[in-house]
Amino acid sequence: ISACLVGSEMCIRDRFYMIRVTVWNEYLHDDPTFEHCSEEAIKQHPNGLHETIADIVRELGDEVEVRTAQMKQPENGLTDEVLENTDVMIWWGHMGHQFVADEVVEKVYKRIMNGMGLIVLHSGHYSKIFRKLNGTTCSLKWRDGTYERLFNVKPTHPIADGIPEHFELGIEECYGEYFDIATPDDVIFEGWYDIGEVFRSGCTFTRGYGKIFYFQPGHETNGSFHNPYVRRIIQNAVHWCYNDKNRRITLGAPSIEVTLEQARLEGNTGEYLKMWD
Ligand code: ZN
Repeated sequence: ISACLVGSEMCIRDRFYMIRVTVWNEYLHDDPTFEHCSEEAIKQHPNGLHETIADIVRELGDEVEVRTAQMKQPENGLTDEVLENTDVMIWWGHMGHQFVADEVVEKVYKRIMNGMGLIVLHSGHYSKIFRKLNGTTCSLKWRDGTYERLFNVKPTHPIADGIPEHFELGIEECYGEYFDIATPDDVIFEGWYDIGEVFRSGCTFTRGYGKIFYFQPGHETNGSFHNPYVRRIIQNAVHWCYNDKNRRITLGAPSIEVTLEQARLEGNTGEYLKMWD
């Protein structure tokens, strides 16, 4: 156990684990070698959105191990080796959703069921993995270049730790309701926009043993990832999405071969479940 300073508060954290974070980026708008790249996006993210986001996570210091993965890499950057060594994945995608292979999505889904955390940022609302996890269209309204204020509507939630009642985000893409998602476990942040829209900007879900956080800010040409509160929210979400049961749990429908009562009476410590599939 060690103490660390986060913001102005003291917190004590169990330091016997390290959170392995993979930041996944489709890397299109922000890739200078891509013919439809955006100069504005490259200006905001000179080393790619994955590096901008990875730097946010790296601020957590030696309690995290950060790697990045990109869509154009083999297996969309998500090989078995990467997936097996990821506790929390952060996802940024927009125009390349359809280029993520269904087999890769299936593998990410299985990892989440077994306890991998997932943070979906901004336009990731339309990613194959987020739509599969929700079982809905995940559609919404949008308009570029609006002014956003974010409200903290669940101040007791760990992801809201250190975040004021509201903060000014500035210029960001407006996302509007109806946001067609499954009913969230919690709505932590709500966005207000100067064009009259509101949005459930920060929502949590649980699927299997996986903890999922969706967060709306992060349009590629805006500076939201440089906002200190946005950074703090993503860092809090890395902690919240981490599941120490990760890698030790298998979901399935096993038959009970030896009952727990039988095992207790007989002092049987062996396998009592049988997986038939
Ligand atoms: Zn956007």
